Amino acid sequence: MKYDYLVVGSGLYGAVFAQEAKKAGKKVLVIDKRPQIAGNVYTKEIEGINVHIYGAHIFHTNNKKVWEYVNRFAEFNRFTNSPVANYHGELYSLPFNMYTFNKMWGVVTPEEAEAKIEEQKKAAGIKEPKNLEEQAISLVGTDIYEKLIKGYTEKQWGRPCDQLPAFIIKRLPVRLTFDNNYFNALYQGIPIGGYTKMVANLLERIEVRLEEDYLKDKENYDAMADKVIYTGPIDAYFGYSLGTLEYRSVRFETEVLDKPNFQGNAAVNYTDRETPWTRIIEHKWFEFGTQPKTVISREYSSEWKPGDEPYYPVNDEKNGALYQEYKKLADKESKIIFGGRLGEYKYYDMDAVIASALDMAEKELR
Ligand code: UDP
Repeated sequence: MKYDYLVVGSGLYGAVFAQEAKKAGKKVLVIDKRPQIAGNVYTKEIEGINVHIYGAHIFHTNNKKVWEYVNRFAEFNRFTNSPVANYHGELYSLPFNMYTFNKMWGVVTPEEAEAKIEEQKKAAGIKEPKNLEEQAISLVGTDIYEKLIKGYTEKQWGRPCDQLPAFIIKRLPVRLTFDNNYFNALYQGIPIGGYTKMVANLLERIEVRLEEDYLKDKENYDAMADKVIYTGPIDAYFGYSLGTLEYRSVRFETEVLDKPNFQGNAAVNYTDRETPWTRIIEHKWFEFGTQPKTVISREYSSEWKPGDEPYYPVNDEKNGALYQEYKKLADKESKIIFGGRLGEYKYYDMDAVIASALDMAEKELR
């Protein structure tokens, strides 16, 4: 065997494991089927702006160990995510906070806002929320659900809100304070110079081969290393033998505009059902850009089909049950470790992926 570890996929999970294995004196090879490293955190410079090619990534965490870890590989700026919601041209602050409630209802105090939410929740008759719709109404009431959640969520997930798991909406904070910070996180920022540079630093002095498709030549790749860290989709690994897990895919329409400022904010969410895109990202604002031009990406969500890029696992009951069947098969593959958003079919944030790769590395390399 030429390598101790073959890492399939150079996204955050793979790059962090590779870094740890290399540090422990192991021989590591990283392969990726794309022509570049960094998985979906890949950023590319266009007009002097770091463009988040596979969708916006804002690093945020409460995990001090993870924060200190990433800071060894990148310097972070002080970006705070504060998306704006656009509902048919009406603008609201996100996440749901006193600015949102004031604009929606004219309420001024936290007590008034709370009473309004309580009144709407009561009218809807929800006691124990069983799905995303009920969860949303019980958190913020029907008006906000109708204007800022329902349309966006149905576009994003392609399913009615009463058929989606409640946990998805619990990602967003609800606050009775004037605070537009989208995340409840102690630490937040964007790596200065882009994520690709951070991943390149993680992979420094590690052999990386691009445009290599593991699943197309699995036997040969497996013969190269004692163990394989596989970060691709778990169902693809098993040739979809038990059926396909559902994913949402995203299509980006990216444009360079000959003006310095298009929307005045990094993210604007289009929360009505009629606008076909879910959000527009204006990349320069992640790094307080002063370039004369701007680059924007409209995001369109679609159901994944074979050949598309998978982005979001649809973590509902049906897919959860199928994943458990794949997991049983995975546990029998003694040489392969499955990890990351696709390998574990889990709606992981970046910090959680890093924490999970570090945990695994600690056990594996001990
Ligand atoms: N969401 C919403 N309206 C918004 C933003 C988010 O209803 O303006 C809901 C939607 O269901 C979405 C979920 O909250 O899928 C989680 O949003 P988040 O911003 O965490 O999604 P991501 O950035 O991972 O796509």
